[in-house]
Amino acid sequence: GNYTKQDIIQLVEEKDVQFIRLQFTDVSGTLKNVAITASQLEKALDNKCMFDGSSIEGFVRIEESDMYLYPDLNTFEILPWRPQHGKVARFMCDVYRPEGVPFEGDSRYVLKNVLKKAAKMGYTFDVGPECEFFLFHTDDNGQPTNITHEKASYFDVTPLDLGENARRDIVLTLESMGFEIEASHHEVAPAQHEIDFKYDNALVTADNIMTFKMVVKTIAKRHGLYATFMPKPITDVDGSGMHINMSLEKDGKNIFFDKSNPMGLSKECYHFIAGLIKHAKGMSCICNPLVNSYKRLVPGYEAPVAICWSSINRSPLIRIPASRGAGTRIEFRSPDPAANPYLVMALCLAAGLDGIENELEAPEPIGKNMYLLTEEQIADMNIDVLPATLGEACDAFEEDKYIQEVLGEHISKKYLEAKRKEWHEYCRQVSDWETEAYLYKY
Ligand code: GLU
Ligand code: MG
Ligand code: MG
Repeated sequence: GNYTKQDIIQLVEEKDVQFIRLQFTDVSGTLKNVAITASQLEKALDNKCMFDGSSIEGFVRIEESDMYLYPDLNTFEILPWRPQHGKVARFMCDVYRPEGVPFEGDSRYVLKNVLKKAAKMGYTFDVGPECEFFLFHTDDNGQPTNITHEKASYFDVTPLDLGENARRDIVLTLESMGFEIEASHHEVAPAQHEIDFKYDNALVTADNIMTFKMVVKTIAKRHGLYATFMPKPITDVDGSGMHINMSLEKDGKNIFFDKSNPMGLSKECYHFIAGLIKHAKGMSCICNPLVNSYKRLVPGYEAPVAICWSSINRSPLIRIPASRGAGTRIEFRSPDPAANPYLVMALCLAAGLDGIENELEAPEPIGKNMYLLTEEQIADMNIDVLPATLGEACDAFEEDKYIQEVLGEHISKKYLEAKRKEWHEYCRQVSDWETEAYLYKY
């Protein structure tokens, strides 16, 4: 809703809210919160709630650790799974420095900045995400596993199993929190699900993704299941993506649509595609932030490898879904649900705007199934591929100055440091695969 301070104070009293969680997302994309009681509400609404930022990864150096949380009043939401007496509500917050300036390490701030730039050009940016996830069993100690007894696949209708009951409950909970759920279905892999909610302005959508993940994990747990957004939890099985469907609006009209063009796409749309293609490699370590992310980006599982676009095939990085008119959109298929959604959307928009501002030329669309082509054939077509590892993604990030500029020096530096460390740590590990393949033979 569109709330004023007074509305919130009234709501909290009327609805018997006793705890309020001040939530924010750290650079790695993890939702964090500080809980206060209703007695501290006015202090929170006056932006006077402080937290120790040094405890949050990538946030600050020890000597400048005090940060303030400024609640975004429009994100007020009562958490329906908490007690109905003495309810719990939450706000999404912006992070500010003690001097009253936005903290440059806050990813919500990064997205807001790019949205402001777009607004200056007359654009609003709408995004609809498609979040995929797995519902796994827990072990006897309640710890997560990657085990499932499910057998269902894409769009299957099965006798209700644990997973489907949980998904139904997740959808109902989201609806009670004001989400408009457009579709939910079983995905290709056993125990893999997808729930799609309606597109909205990018900032709202990024907040929604964070709320969505919290709901999915919470409700799954109530059903004795563990929900994971890990991009590739099982070898040789489809991974989970977070496809980003985007459109730009100007004067209330979707400007990606142009009925005079044979494909129904405007010149802004082609430029936007070109911008995404130009920065796809540099954006990778944000869109695919984990060592594990790159195990999803392999041929054969509907996840992209080749940096090209298509109006039909699902193997390229970018697909243009069939709908035209107000529904004209670009589907960017590389991001996975482990990514920080604020940063993903900030970079998608910034890359697209680079394309529009500099009138970048989109390559020809590709109608082929890219998985059937060899690396040489792809190279012969003059098509580049996404980084194959987190290490390569770090290199590509370092080369893309524009992307670093959008994120700002603070985030770029800390992020790259953290990701390189993660990559090197992984490279030192001796894996089960290696012992199995080499121990007996050599
Ligand atoms: N699971 C696939 C991925 O990793 C996407 C499947 C689909 O097209 O919905 O992106
Ligand atoms: Mg899907
Ligand atoms: Mg999709």
